[in-house]
Amino acid sequence: MRVAVIGGGIVGLFAAYYLKRDGAEVTIFEREYLGRGSIHAAGLIEPYRFDRINSLGMIVKMLRYMARGITRVRQVDPLWLKALLRTLNRSPPQEAWERARWMAEFSLKEYRRLAEERNDFDYDESGLYEVSLNERDFEDNFRDCLNSPLRPKCEEAEIKGLGRAVYFPELAKVSTEAFIERMRRELNGVTVAKKEVTDYLSLKGEFDEVVVASGVNVRSLGLPITSFKGYGFRVIGNERVKLPVSVVLNDYGLAIVKNSGYVKLTAGFEADFSRGISEGERVFKLASRAIEVVRVIDGLEGWRPCTHDGFPLVGKFKGLVVATGACRLGWSFAPAMGKMASDLALGREKGFGYISGLNRLEGLAEL
Ligand SMILES: Cc1cc2nc3c(=O)[nH]c(=O)nc-3n(C[C@H](O)[C@H](O)[C@H](O)COP(=O)(O)OP(=O)(O)OC[C@H]3O[C@@H](n4cnc5c(N)ncnc54)[C@H](O)[C@@H]3O)c2cc1C
Repeated sequence: MRVAVIGGGIVGLFAAYYLKRDGAEVTIFEREYLGRGSIHAAGLIEPYRFDRINSLGMIVKMLRYMARGITRVRQVDPLWLKALLRTLNRSPPQEAWERARWMAEFSLKEYRRLAEERNDFDYDESGLYEVSLNERDFEDNFRDCLNSPLRPKCEEAEIKGLGRAVYFPELAKVSTEAFIERMRRELNGVTVAKKEVTDYLSLKGEFDEVVVASGVNVRSLGLPITSFKGYGFRVIGNERVKLPVSVVLNDYGLAIVKNSGYVKLTAGFEADFSRGISEGERVFKLASRAIEVVRVIDGLEGWRPCTHDGFPLVGKFKGLVVATGACRLGWSFAPAMGKMASDLALGREKGFGYISGLNRLEGLAEL
């Protein structure tokens, strides 16, 4: 069976990985280079830190971020905005949470399995500390964790010199750069075409199935996906306080992840589709409380592909298999999304209920 995968970001790579493993003849179409859309990320494998976007709580959080100058709104997808307003505070069915929990467990298990085969991607399971510099944010955060339908494990902790933290012991991290390299090796034998596909449906004649994993660009199919842009920098720095391997400064939406030979700093949650890393300096300023940046190795922007409710979208649409929308958790859910997309393409599954988009897009038809 011949399958085209459009997009060589982390979701497309995992889709290609499972398709290849299950015997399909795979071609990846990537307009830049493998990993381009995803490599800037922090590399936190944190599926339990899921936030539902179309909730008042999330909107309040965004307004707080806007007041602190962390979130700016430049451009949103109009269909996404309508879908968000239309479904505001509408709870997803229990089945959606169950599927998301399965996706979280599957994804964590797959990263661990790949690391057990060979840990050539700086995999670390020492968990994640989410620090709040102000007390109200800590209380909100801890409550969110305790009330999460995904039932994550979380504990109170403290990072001396920074503040109180919610500690998630189950979560992991990878080096995104090393992981993309690992995927390149895993995908040995898969054809990679450096090409921008402008008409996804045009590939239907040449291939038996087409998987569209082009991140925010999936919106060109008329699906409500918007971009929240952010920045990732590899730096060499001096810790101002003793930091764990993975820490998020919650108040600034800033992640600091220690890898062999460098630290990854990521931040920014801007409603924006544009290119460019002009906001980089701001990231270092935010981080300066925890780390002094001595040298910047490189930096890149990325566009989180977000659905209106925050749940990933993996389903069949217009005869194509679509896999996108994991927003700030693309790495965290990518193994499950890739496996689900592969199973849909190979005809092993017909759909995944809410996650496949049919239920949640019902009633939005008149938008
Ligand atoms: C600052 C920042 C930090 C983040 N940190 C984390 C983290 O720690 N953990 C986590 O789980 N997630 C994190 N994320 C989110 C994660 O990076 C995204 O959810 C993820 O990259 C989405 O993956 P994707 O494969 O769906 O899309 P993308 O990564 O956007 O990949 C899509 C690919 O498709 C290609 N493409 C697009 N259109 C076409 C076309 N028409 N033809 C051919 N190719 C095309 C693009 O070049 C790109 O390579 C972070 C995001 C940001 C911005």
